[in-house]
Amino acid sequence: MLDRLAVLAKWVCFTRARARQVVTDSGGLGWFGRCEHCRLERFLQWSHIEPQGRCPHLRYDPDNYRALCWHCHFHWWHKGGAETEAWIRGLIGDARRDRLGLMARTRGHRMDPEAVRLMLLDELHRMGVVPLFDTEGRPL
Ligand SMILES: [Zn+2]
Repeated sequence: MLDRLAVLAKWVCFTRARARQVVTDSGGLGWFGRCEHCRLERFLQWSHIEPQGRCPHLRYDPDNYRALCWHCHFHWWHKGGAETEAWIRGLIGDARRDRLGLMARTRGHRMDPEAVRLMLLDELHRMGVVPLFDTEGRPL
């Protein structure tokens, strides 16, 4: 279930960024489009604002990820600081950024996988996307 939630969350992330799914040189699937930071067309990564390791309960929260290229993800976003914080606040607004920060400090939070799945499907429906299967052909 959790892997399928990641598939859905990535669809939300990359659809919002108007990226497209492509077959890579190695035969896998990747997402290609404009990096939400540098605006260059590149392969994109599912880049979390509050880290997945420290905040697994925010892994699938649509406010908690953006589509960044590898360079911006690792050489800009992960360095953190005032510039990255101002950027994300400009993108999602102070109220949503503050909510994420509060949720990140909430310990012992358990997520309901079915509720997360329905929330992600609702996000996709609002963007006009109706994914029926994950990347391995399993029903979502
Ligand atoms: Zn970039």
